[in-house]
Parts: sequence; structure tokens; C-alpha cells
Amino acid sequence: MTGHVSLRDLEDLAMDTSWMAKGKCRELPPELFFPSDGVGVEVAKKICMTCKVRSTCLEYAIANHIDHGVWGGASERERRRIARARRLAKA
Ligand code: SF4
Repeated sequence: MTGHVSLRDLEDLAMDTSWMAKGKCRELPPELFFPSDGVGVEVAKKICMTCKVRSTCLEYAIANHIDHGVWGGASERERRRIARARRLAKA
């Protein structure tokens, strides 16, 4: 997702979960995506990189302020950084 995103777009994104059925993680143990160390984070991120709904997943996690686990190929810290950079870019 690029460019301007309206409030309505964000609300739609935050609610729509239909993309989850296409996620690569559907075939894998959920705990893989909630790792307890950096190695686990890298493993999960690698899987996400091959997932066809990765960008939607990332936007969903950011829109919903999900602060646990790897979503859309990004750790909690990376998602916070992305959200902060977007806020600063808007200011
Ligand atoms: S990007 Fe990662 S966490 Fe998101 S649906 Fe795909 S595999 Fe699952």
C-alpha cells in the first residue's frame, strides 16, 4: 500500500480478515510467528517473505496496533518504526 490512505481505507483494512485464509502461516504452527528470540523472528520473517498476502498482513497489523508477533514480515519493533515514520511524514 502506498500513497495517501483515507480513514475509511484504514477502517476497512482493520476489519477485513478475508486475506488470512491465503496466508502462508495457515499451514504452519502459530507459535512460529510469536517467537521468543531474534533467531525465531528471522525464521518467521523468512516465511513471510514468500507469502502472497504479506503487504496486506503488514498493513492489517499496523492498522490494528498489533504488538505481538511477526506479521507481514515485520517484528513488533519494525512495525512500530514504520508507524512512527508514517506519522512523522504526515506531520
Ligand atoms: S505475511 Fe507472514 S504472518 Fe502474514 S499471513 Fe503471510 S505468513 Fe502469515
